[in-house]
Amino acid sequence: MRNWLMRWGQRFSRFMYGRYGNDQFNLFLTVVCVLLLLLSGVRPLYVLMLPSAALLVWTTFRCYSKNIARRRQENERFLRLVRPIRMWFRLQRNKWRDRKSFCYFKCKHCRAVLRVPKGKGTIDVTCPRCQKITVKKT
Ligand SMILES: [Zn+2]
Repeated sequence: MRNWLMRWGQRFSRFMYGRYGNDQFNLFLTVVCVLLLLLSGVRPLYVLMLPSAALLVWTTFRCYSKNIARRRQENERFLRLVRPIRMWFRLQRNKWRDRKSFCYFKCKHCRAVLRVPKGKGTIDVTCPRCQKITVKKT
């Protein structure tokens, strides 16, 4: 039984050799694909089955593709595109984590997000991006 499994494992790794595999973009496409599939269960939305199937084909193609450079490029483009969204979520997480000891605010001059310790009274904050000083009550 174990030998049989190992043989299949080896065959599979030989098959996947030189192929792209999965990345963040594929994960995103898979999530969208599943969401569309679930929505297509609602009667008036059954046509969503088509884009869902198309996404499944695309995801599979990307996973087994041998053009690794091109797939990597697509993934980088995707990551660049969603970077602001990921940064926003990270900021919200950090704000929540630091809610007791730090306060966050935006620099009036360049809109950079700044973090200062709470309970220090009125302090001068130098923005690390634009070097301008803001007076802040903490
Ligand atoms: Zn600034």
